[in-house]
Amino acid sequence: MDLHNIDKFLCPTDINKVSDWGEGLSWVAGGTWLFSEPQPNINTLVDIQSLGWDEIELVNLPDSHQGKLLAIGATCPLIKLLQHPWLCEYTAVEGFKGAISALSASLKVVNVATVGGNICLALSVGTLAPIMVALDASYEILNRSRKSRIVAARDFQIGSRQTLLESGELLRRVLIPVENMKWQVNYRRFGIVASDPALAIVVGAYNRFGKKLRLVIGGSVVAPQLLEFDPRVETGLNYMASVDNIDFIEDARGSAVYRREITQVLIRRCLESLGF
Ligand SMILES: Cc1cc2nc3c(=O)[nH]c(=O)nc-3n(C[C@H](O)[C@H](O)[C@H](O)COP(=O)(O)OP(=O)(O)OC[C@H]3O[C@@H](n4cnc5c(N)ncnc54)[C@H](O)[C@@H]3O)c2cc1C
Repeated sequence: MDLHNIDKFLCPTDINKVSDWGEGLSWVAGGTWLFSEPQPNINTLVDIQSLGWDEIELVNLPDSHQGKLLAIGATCPLIKLLQHPWLCEYTAVEGFKGAISALSASLKVVNVATVGGNICLALSVGTLAPIMVALDASYEILNRSRKSRIVAARDFQIGSRQTLLESGELLRRVLIPVENMKWQVNYRRFGIVASDPALAIVVGAYNRFGKKLRLVIGGSVVAPQLLEFDPRVETGLNYMASVDNIDFIEDARGSAVYRREITQVLIRRCLESLGF
């Protein structure tokens, strides 16, 4: 839709040139959400697509204890995650595919929506956040002085449409330990129909070598919730009981009880797919 109150559209090629951040400014990436509803409080859009932050590459960060990292730039379009020539050993790519096909949107949206836009929008039905939490990713965030800090994906989203980002901060890139890309991953989503937002999402990630199982609940809760298990000592009953103390969303689309039940069904299917 047209946003009639926008009077300035900036396309910086260098982020350091955006210095006077204030009220009424907003970053725009793919724009698939920003242009889908009225934005009465915004008068200036700062397009970050021209910054060239759409890389998918391996990096070593001197301060990281997680070894070599896969870096995915914030403006990487979702479609690029599907089309990238991934190494076969990166079994976790299945999780990216699951997340993108779980989006209740057309190919038109998938072509332009970005990784950063999806994560920063932080919808409770957000499709990428659960897989990033499952893979123990972290996010590099730039502040207004363009200094960077790293935040764990599991801590980033603190509610529905709420993140740790402060005014003027932006997500620069997602960092995933390369070893975690070799985990077995299964992404499950349930919605009334495919074009409806998800009612529940469950992502399972299993590290065969470290014998660790991570389950992430999304869609049915306000922000992704991580549950960690040691499958050598825990049983199917533990996995099911682990959702007992989670607060599920209760709204016109489904009760909390219903969402809990659906989540348990998805957990069961996810575990079966991972060989448990
Ligand atoms: C029909 C339809 C169905 C949809 N279904 C789903 C769905 O099922 N699941 C889902 O998760 N989403 C869904 N969306 C919402 C949205 O389109 C996607 O989440 C998309 O990935 C957002 O990415 P974008 O690049 O278009 O973000 P934009 O619309 O450009 O931006 C979204 C928000 O993120 C901020 N932002 C963008 N990039 C950054 C950055 N690097 N740093 C800081 N802030 C940033 C913007 O300021 C804005 O507030 C749907 C949208 C439509 C139109």
